[in-house]
Amino acid sequence: MSSSQEKYDSSLEFAKASDAADTLRKFRASFYFPEAFNNLEAVYLTGNSLGLMPKTARAYVDQELDDWARLAVEAHMNAKHPWLPYHEFVTEPMARVVGAKPIETVVMNSLTVNLHMLMVSFYRPTKGRYKIVIERGAFPSDHYAVESQLKFHGFASDGLIELAPRAAEATLRTEDIVDAIERNGQSIALILLGGVNYYTGQAFDMKTITDAGHKQGCVVGFDCAHAAGNLELKLHDWNVDFAAWCSYKYLNAGPGAIAGIFVHERHARSFELPRLAGWWGHDKETRFLMGPEFKPLAGAEGWQISNPPIFQLAALRASLEIFDEAGISNLREKSERLTGFLENLLIDVGDDRISVITPRDPGERGCQLSIRVRNAERSLHEKIVARGAYADWREPDVIRVAPVPLYNSFEDVFRFGEILRSCLS
Ligand SMILES: *Cc1c(COP(=O)(O)O)cnc(C)c1O
Repeated sequence: MSSSQEKYDSSLEFAKASDAADTLRKFRASFYFPEAFNNLEAVYLTGNSLGLMPKTARAYVDQELDDWARLAVEAHMNAKHPWLPYHEFVTEPMARVVGAKPIETVVMNSLTVNLHMLMVSFYRPTKGRYKIVIERGAFPSDHYAVESQLKFHGFASDGLIELAPRAAEATLRTEDIVDAIERNGQSIALILLGGVNYYTGQAFDMKTITDAGHKQGCVVGFDCAHAAGNLELKLHDWNVDFAAWCSYKYLNAGPGAIAGIFVHERHARSFELPRLAGWWGHDKETRFLMGPEFKPLAGAEGWQISNPPIFQLAALRASLEIFDEAGISNLREKSERLTGFLENLLIDVGDDRISVITPRDPGERGCQLSIRVRNAERSLHEKIVARGAYADWREPDVIRVAPVPLYNSFEDVFRFGEILRSCLS
């Protein structure tokens, strides 16, 4: 991870020259951008919330609609891309996106559902070791999920350890996270942090945290909703126990898209772990013998429950092909420069009504910058939106801006800077 603070030019000329030299610039044309707004061309910087639609998605979904019309039930076996093994077509590309082996990933369900399914297996509290560590200000769904797991196992909310930044700081220091793990280690059953916090944009040092947790005998999982397709993840090498993420943010698979899970290879045959079973997690050879005895598949596939939604898989397949073509490390390299450019523009704007709370170190963030607005002046966000920028407001006082390297340009970022400047003047 790089920690250098390079300086960037913040001119339009620099933006144009950077776009001209960008080896990934052709991918912009692979996506639909939302329609013009108030007659202004959209500057779309909310790919962290809903990624844009790949133009190929329509044909991929249409193919499955056609096969449904033409073949009906036979499409499970005889479609161009047979439905029975369809989820397997995305396993390898998804594994490449998160730095996993194919046996470690599968796509299924939605994100919060998957967090629960994985906690059924990986949150195994005992009387002495039952606590769960999360970050304060975690995405609410994660907080609800974790708290309800505590309750489900009969523990009170004192079982929740919420990591908070130091006074007057906006983000967590790795040393403080490690320190909290060491101090509470023997009482912690599970550490479950975001890979990137949705609010601050802070990327956690997943390897260091995983090592610290394992030293104390804790299970370590990550919610990679804001990390998958954004950071260059190495979930296998970092020894993470499990992870879950959605596919509609940086992974561009469409609203409510089918989500992904990671279960480390060392748990691939941990059949003694409790799990909530369903037929899609059952051994493929004997699934259709319809026998009464559940025999889980090895690896992440063994956590599947139901047969998956094919149209969603089709859209995801279209999207992951683009990731394979672009390459996650190339995307990350551009991302650091694109976000660095945005950061520089914000410094240039130089208005003390706004401040960036996302870490300055590129190694501690993805593409998103979170702009804290003094006095939670929400009208600033409304003005920005009225001028054609897609950026979102998150309570209590942050505007999130995420230039996505696959389809955003340096000129998009420049235009956002101009819009912000004019809204502040
Ligand atoms: C987006 C997001 C969610 C959303 O959960 P769904 O189950 O997909 O509705 C949950 N957690 C985090 C950290 C997120 O970023």
